[in-house]
Amino acid sequence: MSIKDNPQPSRSRIIGSILLWVSGGFLLLNLFFPQLFAPKIPQVPYSVFIAQVEDGEVARAYVAQDQIRYQLKTEEGQPQQVLATTPIFDLELPNRLEAKGVEFAAAPPPKNSWFGSLLSWVIPPLIFVAIWQFFLARGGGAGGPQGALSITKSRAKVYVQDDATKVTFDDVAGVEEAKTELAEVVEFLKTPQRFTRIGARIPKGVLLVGPPGTGKTLMAKAVAGEAGVPFFSISGSEFVELFVGAGAARVRDLFEQAKKKSPCIIFIDELDAIGKSRAGNGGFVGGNDEREQTLNQLLTEMDGFSAGENTVIVLAATNRPETLDPALLRPGRFDRQVLVDRPDLAGRLKILEIYAQKVKLGDDIDLKAIATRTPGFAGADLANLVNEAALLAARANRETVAQKDFAEAIERVVAGLEKKSRVLNDKEKKIVAYHEVGHALVGALMPGGGKVAKISIVPRGMAALGYTLQMPTEDRFLMSESELRDQIATLLGGRAAEEIIFGSITTGAANDLQRATDLAERMVTTYGMSKVLGPLAYEKGSQNTFLGDGMIMNPRRNVSDDTARAIDEEVKDIVEAGHQTALAILEKNRDLMEEIAQKILETEVIEGETLQTLLDRVQAIETAEVAV
Ligand code: ADP
Ligand code: MG
Ligand code: ZN
Repeated sequence: MSIKDNPQPSRSRIIGSILLWVSGGFLLLNLFFPQLFAPKIPQVPYSVFIAQVEDGEVARAYVAQDQIRYQLKTEEGQPQQVLATTPIFDLELPNRLEAKGVEFAAAPPPKNSWFGSLLSWVIPPLIFVAIWQFFLARGGGAGGPQGALSITKSRAKVYVQDDATKVTFDDVAGVEEAKTELAEVVEFLKTPQRFTRIGARIPKGVLLVGPPGTGKTLMAKAVAGEAGVPFFSISGSEFVELFVGAGAARVRDLFEQAKKKSPCIIFIDELDAIGKSRAGNGGFVGGNDEREQTLNQLLTEMDGFSAGENTVIVLAATNRPETLDPALLRPGRFDRQVLVDRPDLAGRLKILEIYAQKVKLGDDIDLKAIATRTPGFAGADLANLVNEAALLAARANRETVAQKDFAEAIERVVAGLEKKSRVLNDKEKKIVAYHEVGHALVGALMPGGGKVAKISIVPRGMAALGYTLQMPTEDRFLMSESELRDQIATLLGGRAAEEIIFGSITTGAANDLQRATDLAERMVTTYGMSKVLGPLAYEKGSQNTFLGDGMIMNPRRNVSDDTARAIDEEVKDIVEAGHQTALAILEKNRDLMEEIAQKILETEVIEGETLQTLLDRVQAIETAEVAV
């Protein structure tokens, strides 16, 4: 893709502004340093002047505040000689001059005064115009980049496709689901009539969500490339700047330009810069007015354009979807969300293949092995990895990149990444694998209203190292006690697996325990599911104000110490029961656990058919097998 430059300012305009500049400069100089241009008058010391007066050489003098100019007596035909001196406070001067018969006057003739006053009237506006011209020239008119006076212009870069640099879906790998979803967007852009003819509404906004470097920006470009339409790209932070109100004006301008070029794509990168939840930030006092105005304008524009005659699709990217204002996610705005996640093993291999084409590889290269060693790498990290390896090979003066270059490059990149995000070493990867399989096995036996649909040990986000996805089998509004107990057991399955296999536990289970304990506590205090404590609600109903929840200091009713102790006991019993159940299930299915764990260490993700066949082999336990 190439960036289309805005038309240059015309030549006559350039010459005009140069002239303006030169004349402006000249006038300025004249104003502040008039002596530069005035005829030069020789300066003499005051004492010399007095001596000349005493000697009767002076013909006439003009006495001003800061200067005395005087003319010496000359013979007929001789050129007049004018001298100047700086006066000293001297009250005797008039008397002396009079005594010597010098003709004198108080002020020098206002020789330049009409000129001076003209200057003082004309110069300031001229300076102003000159500055204006300067910024306009830099701003370069409509849609121009940079320049303080173009603040209301959107700074969107317009990418126009040219075949050499065009990005297509082939350049993006490892995010197949996202590609499938966006392929549909391409259809909308190519043949909008096909959809509008039936009366279908073309989606206006598509939000790409995913961790940094997974290819969100790249995907957006690929959509434009595939559809062959112009692509306006702007970063959210570019809307919010310096001047209040500029952001909103820029949004307006951006949409105006886009409509002229429809069908086209507007891509707003880092949407969270403007789209942050209005309630969330700064609480209930004030907030960021400028950002809010910009956001409102964006919402208005998105509501305003009808997708019928001019198809403009707004793509946006963010790695912090949870901070976005809910108003942005409403239908008719960014109602489609596409997850662009870190790639799994197969995905990483494909990405490596793309980038490996661009360097010369040696014969010993095993891309699969490299992909295996790089769990948690995003697309950008892999691209970087290939480049690092190539640099290492070049530094060693080799013709091709060898496997050992990759090995070293991985270490370098990992060292950098470990600071930023999660990259697991082999030991950790193994623990996470068993942990997740633990969840899955217990979950398979004790569904608790959900069916295990996917196990993954690809690190996601900042918190989870792996995850086990349970899909609800149907819409549920009520949960039975046994289902809640199932869920608690499943939550403890991860920890139980670590205990059984490694004989120790890691911090990775902390979040599971938190959730299990919360559930158990709610069973006792809110749902009245405890036989000991009876059907009483020990928790105060959440006093939900518009300030949001989670602000209640002490959620429990005033209960006696005994009751409080009983509640704690009961919660502990429920969690412990779940723990024992999980342990029993995993002990009984230990071989299966080993098998699945080995498998997931190879593929990183198990789902669908494969997962179901494995989980179908889980053996149920008798109640008697659970230690109490
Ligand atoms: P994001 O916008 O999600 O932070 P980018 O799209 O800017 O990430 O990715 C940065 C670079 O990393 C891309 O230009 C591309 O070279 C590479 N890259 C990232 N993800 C992928 C991918 N899935 N397939 C191929 N290349 C990728
Ligand atoms: Mg990006
Ligand atoms: Zn867990």
